[in-house]
Amino acid sequence: MKSILHHVTQLPGVGAARAKQLKSLDIETVEQLMMYYPFRYQDFQQQALSEIGDQEKITLKGFVVTPPVVSHFGYKKSRLQFKLKVDSAIITVTFFNQTFLKNKLPVASEVVIYGKWQASRRSLTALKLLTSVEEQNDWQPVYHVNKHIRQKTLVHLIKTAFEQYSDVIPEILPQDLLDRYRLLDRKQAMYALHFPQDKAQLAQAQRRMIYEEFFLFALQMRLKKQASSNNNGSAKNFDNQKVKQLISLLPFELTTAQKKVTNEICRNLRAQTAMNRLLQGDVGSGKTVVAAICLYAAITSGVQTALMVPTEILAQQHYAALNDLLAQVDVQTALLTSSTTKKERTTILQQLNEGNIDLIIGTHALIQDDVQFKNLGFVVIDEQHRFGVQQRQLLQQKGQDIDILSMTATPIPRTLAITAYGEMDVSTIDALPKGRQPIITRWIQKKQWTQLLQQLQQSLSQGQQVYVICPLIEESEMLDAHNAQATFEQLTHYFKGQYRVGLLHGQMKQEQKEQLMQQFSENKVQILVSTTVIEVGVNVPNATVMVIMDAQRFGLAQLHQLRGRVGRGSQQSWCYLVADVKSQEGIERMKIMMQTTDGFVLSQKDLEMRGPGEFFGVRQSGLPQFRCADIVRDANILEYATADACHFLQQQAVWQRDENQVLAFYLRTHRRWQQLLN
Ligand code: ADP
Ligand code: MG
Repeated sequence: MKSILHHVTQLPGVGAARAKQLKSLDIETVEQLMMYYPFRYQDFQQQALSEIGDQEKITLKGFVVTPPVVSHFGYKKSRLQFKLKVDSAIITVTFFNQTFLKNKLPVASEVVIYGKWQASRRSLTALKLLTSVEEQNDWQPVYHVNKHIRQKTLVHLIKTAFEQYSDVIPEILPQDLLDRYRLLDRKQAMYALHFPQDKAQLAQAQRRMIYEEFFLFALQMRLKKQASSNNNGSAKNFDNQKVKQLISLLPFELTTAQKKVTNEICRNLRAQTAMNRLLQGDVGSGKTVVAAICLYAAITSGVQTALMVPTEILAQQHYAALNDLLAQVDVQTALLTSSTTKKERTTILQQLNEGNIDLIIGTHALIQDDVQFKNLGFVVIDEQHRFGVQQRQLLQQKGQDIDILSMTATPIPRTLAITAYGEMDVSTIDALPKGRQPIITRWIQKKQWTQLLQQLQQSLSQGQQVYVICPLIEESEMLDAHNAQATFEQLTHYFKGQYRVGLLHGQMKQEQKEQLMQQFSENKVQILVSTTVIEVGVNVPNATVMVIMDAQRFGLAQLHQLRGRVGRGSQQSWCYLVADVKSQEGIERMKIMMQTTDGFVLSQKDLEMRGPGEFFGVRQSGLPQFRCADIVRDANILEYATADACHFLQQQAVWQRDENQVLAFYLRTHRRWQQLLN
C-alpha cells in the first residue's frame, strides 16, 4: 500500500545516488522530504520561461501590452484575455470567469500573476492577480541545502513527492480540534509551507503545523510521564506525627507556599507512583527547609536518602544546617565530597552500605561507582540544572523505585517548563518568607566607583558584610583571576586597618575556598571578592550588599541569582550593578534589574531576550527541536496544545477508539514515539 513512510527511492527519478544525497539532509522517507520545510521565503525572482515545465504553477511579473478582451461562452462562462510582456517575451494570459479584473489591467501597467503555464501555447492560465510583487514577496521557498544537493533539485523532488503521495497524507489531529481552531487540513498545510499561494495561506499553514508539533510534543511528554510513574513506584508510608514534630522544631513558621509544596511532595512520596518532581522557588524562598522536611519524611518510612548539590561550599552549608536540625530527631547524616579524606570516606561508604546513614549530603562524589546504599529511596538534587541528565540518572540507579525531587532557584518561564520539563510534575514556591525587604538595586558607571566605596563603608560600619562579584571571563581563567585580583587589591588598600577582604576564585584549592567561606560566614572577613563560584546557594544572612562588576556580562537570570545572595536577613539590602553599557539591550537589562525583584518576570524577559538555548546554557541541551514552532514566539499556542493533549488522553480507552486510529498509527510508526504506546 502506498504510504508516505516509503523510502524516497520509491519516487520516480530517485535512485540510490539521489537517496544518498537526501540522506545527507537527514531525509530518508517521502514524509521527511515533504516535511523538509524552507527556512525562509525569498523575494520574487522571475523564472526564465524556458525553464518552466508544462502545467507548472508559477508566478510571473510583466507589463500589460494589449487591453484585456472579454468573451462569453457556454452558460455564464467568460474568458478575459490579454498579452503580457515578460522580460523580452510576449505571452498570452487568460483568466476564466473573472471579467471584473478588466479595469485592473490597464495597458502598460506592471502586474504580477499566478497561474498555470501552458508550455506549447506559451500562455498562462491565470488563477490569481496579485496586486504587487510585494504581496508575494516572502514566498519563494529557500531551503537549507549542502554541497551534495541544489535548491532547484530539492524543490523538484519535493514537488514530485507531493504529486505522487499527496493523496495518502493522513490527517492526524482529532477533528474537534481542527474545527475548534479552524486549522488547515494537514495535506494542504504541508504543501502550502513549500508553495504558498500568498502570505495569508502561508500563515495559516504555519499555524496549523505549529499547533500539530506542540500537540504531538505534549502527547509525547504526557505518555512518557505516565510510563515512568507507572513502572517503578513504591509507596513510602512515612510517620506524619514525626514529621510534624520536626516542623515544630523550626525557628520560624513555614510560609503558606512552603506548606503547599511540602504537602504536594509528601503526597507524592506516599503514592504508589514514582516521583519525578521539580521544586522551583525564587532565591531565598526557603527550598532547603522544604527539602529537609521531605527527606525526613522519607527516612521515617525506612529508606535512606541523598541530597546532591553542585558545589563543595553548598554541600558544606547544607550539611551544617541539616545536620543541626535533623540530629534533634535522631537522623544520621554524613557529608561526602571530593575532599573527604580517604579514611573518612571508607567509613562513610561502609556505613552507607550497612544502612547506618539515613541522609548523605554531597557533590558529584555521590555518584561514584563504589558509593553503595543499603536501600536508597529518595533523592533530592539541588540546583538541578547544574547537573547533566546522566549524572542524575547515575544517582537514581543506586536504588530501586527511587523518588526524585529536583530543585531549582532559576524560575523557569512556563513555556520552558512545559517543553524542557514536560515529563515532570512541578511544585512552585511562589512567595518569600515574611519580613523580607525588597533589595534595592542601583545601576552605576565605573567612574562612580569612589562613591560606591563610600556607600560600602556605610554598610560595613553598621556591622554588615559585602560581596563583590567579578565576571568569569571564559577565554582565560588567568584573566578572570586577575580581574578579581585587581579589585581585591583595590578594596584591601581602601579598607586597610578597618575591614578584612577575602578573595575567592575558581583556581583556589578546595580547602582554601572553604576556609574563606567559613571566615566570611563567621564575619571574620567582611568583604568577599569572588568570581561566580559563589553563584549558587550560599547563605550568609549578615551580608547586605552585592556589588556586581561588569554586570552586562551576565544574563538576567544569573544577575538575579547573584543578587539573591543578599536580602536574606531582616535588614535592608542593596545591589549595585557596575556596568558601562552602551547597547540598547544592555541598558534595557540594567533597567529591568532595577525595576523588579520577581524572578519569574526576569526569567521570562531573559528568555525573550536571549532565546531558550542561551537561557539554560550549554548543559541543558534537552530542549526539543521543532520544525515550525518557536516556544517563545508561539507560547500561547503551546499552552492550548498542551491542555488539549492532556484532555485528549483522558478519553476512555483512547487508543482503542476508531477516530484515533490514524494518530495511533502515526505515533507507532515514528521512531521517537514507539516505546510510548502500548
Ligand atoms: P533557597 O530557596 O534560595 O535555597 P534557603 O532555603 O537557603 O533558600 O532559605 C533562605 C533563608 O530563609 C534561610 O536563612 C532560611 O533559614 C530562611 N527561611 C526559610 N524558610 C523561612 C520561613 N518560613 N520564615 C523565615 N525564614 C525562612
Ligand atoms: Mg538553595
